[in-house]
Amino acid sequence: VTIAANEIQRLLRNWLSVRRTGPALDRSEHLLSEKVSGAETSEGRTIQDLAGTLEFKNIQFTYPGKNQPVLKNISFRVSPGEAVALVGPSGSGKSTIVDLILRLYEPDQGKILLDGMEITELNAGWLRSQFAIVSQDIQLRNGTLAENLRIANKEATDQELIDALYDSGLQEFYRSLPLGLDTGVGERGSLLSGGQKQRLSLARALVKNSPFLLLDEASSALDPITETQINKAIAERRQKQTVIIISHRLSTVLSANRIIVMENGLVVNEGSHEFLLDSEDGVYSRLFKREAEIGEHIYSHTM
Ligand code: ADP
Ligand code: MG
Repeated sequence: VTIAANEIQRLLRNWLSVRRTGPALDRSEHLLSEKVSGAETSEGRTIQDLAGTLEFKNIQFTYPGKNQPVLKNISFRVSPGEAVALVGPSGSGKSTIVDLILRLYEPDQGKILLDGMEITELNAGWLRSQFAIVSQDIQLRNGTLAENLRIANKEATDQELIDALYDSGLQEFYRSLPLGLDTGVGERGSLLSGGQKQRLSLARALVKNSPFLLLDEASSALDPITETQINKAIAERRQKQTVIIISHRLSTVLSANRIIVMENGLVVNEGSHEFLLDSEDGVYSRLFKREAEIGEHIYSHTM
């Protein structure tokens, strides 16, 4: 077997980019594991009957060891019953926002509020338990489908697991399995395809059924039909959960009721798709105009 040199180069680049997603690995691992740093402490408060409002107020953030802030002055608010899309060029700071919400890092300046309470006042483990996150980086364990789905919600019934699989576009796959929920997924999900892993990690987030659902480029490996189906499920979830969608796919962005546009660590605009397309600054239309015109996504690069 001969592998072309450029194929080797591609594999190497992929491997390097996986290596570079260090903090992203933490992102989902933090939410899956109860044993995260800070999470085991009993310090901090919890909020009874969380409504699900999240607010960033003048947040500035610099990664440790860097001298330029990646978030310069970020303010936005997401309310219960909303599905908000966060869009912007690669490197504009979208995933960093997720890191700050989970308190993987502390901001230099500004406040992050959950139902009006500063997240620094809250118990870190409790805070993280309020968010289900799906990122590109998928953490599966060598176990059964059921075990992987119940990681963040041990009490979930089999029916809840099956509903989540259906909502995530895995119904055909599920029906084809003689062992059903007891099917093994292999070492880190090696028996599943990339798209199946991504759908399974979405299903797991749905099983968690937490007040907030955060999707960070979660549909990048999905075909358009599955994506449409998932967008529909997310739109329904929004009645019960506050949903934040980070995506560079127009179809996914359009499933949100409001779109927040970021560039260079700033929120540069906010509004509906139509409003943003006509907007003078042109950031949004640079991201989506051609896609809107030709009806397919032009942004295949993900990070
Ligand atoms: P986006 O998700 O919008 O593509 P990110 O939030 O991942 O952007 O990154 C914003 C900026 O912060 C980029 O310039 C990126 O290189 C940098 N960055 C991301 N993670 C780290 C890190 N752990 N340490 C230092 N810089 C980082
Ligand atoms: Mg990102």
